[in-house]
Order: sequence, then C-alpha cells, then structure tokens
Amino acid sequence: MRPYLIMLKNKTALVTGSTSGIGLGMARALAAQGCNIMLNGFGEAGAIENIRASLEKEHSVRAAYHGADLSQPEQIADLVEITLRTFGSVDVLCNNAGIQFVAPIEEFPPERWDQIIAVNLSSAFHTIRHALPHMRRAGWGRIINTASAHGLVASVNKVAYVAAKHGIVGLTKVVALETAGSGITCNAIAPGWVRTELVEKQITARAQQLGLSQEEAAVSLLAEKQPSKQFVSVEQLGGIVVFLCSEAAAQITGATIASDGGWTAQ
Ligand code: NAD
Repeated sequence: MRPYLIMLKNKTALVTGSTSGIGLGMARALAAQGCNIMLNGFGEAGAIENIRASLEKEHSVRAAYHGADLSQPEQIADLVEITLRTFGSVDVLCNNAGIQFVAPIEEFPPERWDQIIAVNLSSAFHTIRHALPHMRRAGWGRIINTASAHGLVASVNKVAYVAAKHGIVGLTKVVALETAGSGITCNAIAPGWVRTELVEKQITARAQQLGLSQEEAAVSLLAEKQPSKQFVSVEQLGGIVVFLCSEAAAQITGATIASDGGWTAQ
C-alpha cells in the first residue's frame, strides 16, 4: 500500500469553511500529508493570512485562500476555477462549510431556512458539479462531505440544519453511485459535538437559559446526546479525512462515517 505522504504529495485539496473549526483541522491534516490547500471561509484578513502562511511554513506545501460566499453559486464556480488555475487540479474536495440557527419551525425565519440550505447543502452540489469533470480526467478524486449526527437523527429546533445534513447524506450516496469504479469516492463524515465556534454559541445559549457556567453547560450539552461525554476533536476528524484519501479506503464510497461518541448508536 502506498504511504499517505507519497499519495497526497502534489495533490490539491479544496476545503470549504476552513478558516476555523473542523475545516481548519481537515486542512492542517491534509497539509501534513503533503497536500496543497485552497482555504475558504470568512474571517479577519490578517488571521486568515496567518493560517495560510503557517500551513506553507509548517508543511512545505502551497496554500491559497479564496473568500467565496458559498450561498452564492457564481462565487462557488469562481472558487473551483481559481483553485484549478492556482494549483492545476482539485484532487480532494472537502465540503465542510456550515451554519446553524435554532428555533421551533413556526418561528423559524424563512430566510434562515434558505440560507442554511444554500450553505450547508446546495454549496456541495455546486462544488461537486464543477470539480467532478477534472477529477474524472485525472482518474482519481476524493469528495468528503461534512454531514453531522444530525444527518442521521434529528433534534428539536434545528429543522433547516437537520434537513440539510440529511440531504448531504443523500447527495453523498448519489455521487458515490455516479462515480463508482472511476477512481473517485464520495463519503460523508458525521461528527457529534465538536467544540468549535458553531457549538460554543449553543453552549453559551444553554448556559444563559439554565443559569449554568459555560463549562457546566458544555457538560450538560454532551450528557444529553453523546454517551462518551467527550467532545470529538478537529484532529480526529482530520485523521478520518486522511484515511478516506488513502488506498485503504479506495472501496469506501457512499458511506457516512459517524464520529460521535456513540450518539447515533442509541
Ligand atoms: P465553524 O463555525 O468553526 O466553521 C464554519 C466555517 O464555515 C467557517 O470557516 C466559516 O467562515 C465558514 N462559513 C460559514 N458560512 C459560510 C459561507 N456562506 N461561505 C463560506 N464559508 C462559510 O463551525 P464548525 O463546527 O467547524 O463547522 C464545520 C462543519 O461541521 C459544518 O458543516 C457543521 O455543520 C459541521 N458540524 C459541526 C459539528 C460541531 O459540533 N461543531 C458537529 C457536526 C457537524
């Protein structure tokens, strides 16, 4: 079996939503295997430049940044186009950007629904349709979509998020079937709670609602869903991405790999 390093050396990964959290963990893990990185996401320009430069310095790869707003299909087309122009290929595509909004369905603002479906689901449709012809020409590709435990089971007050993440699981299966046998695989990763900005906001809301400290609220959030009572780390998720890029995973396609401390085993 070819070692990871040789396999990903000089390949290019486009990781959406990689300016923080899980996407940044994925970008770092791929860069550590010699992969060039196109970063994407929002944030302060200086902080993003620090991330880009540190990837290049620490891992001797090339890294670039594109600030496409993934709710805008024409910006997604540009993101893929610039990635190809900068690096010559898109070999690994991690559709990871995501947002959350929490409210019961009767109070859920329709514009929030549209926004979450656009960023968490439709953006993956657009990146894949633009990147796939190039992967097919190369005869190799890895598409890895960040779903969620909420791609497999539901929770109250998250109608758009749960619908989008279940959609990602379905999209993953279709793309896997359409690319089967071509050297391209398409899988989803379904994390449980990961302590990123997206979840920190939910911990803060819980702390305020229940009169708890931030740490007490984090413990109670875990206790409700995640039997391990431990957060999933971004490094663990980066490791799964690297595994899915390896030869060992060449026949894993259409799968949704849960990393959720037992959440969806219940
Ligand atoms: P995060 O808020 O740290 O990161 C989200 C990333 O997406 C950021 O880089 C942000 O700038 C980017 N982003 C948001 N809107 C965007 C837009 N319109 N265009 C481009 N980029 C945009 O959150 P995270 O927890 O790292 O989330 C990453 C993914 O993991 C999401 O899809 C989320 O649903 C999923 N997820 C998170 C958890 C968790 O517990 N944190 C669990 C399961 C799944």
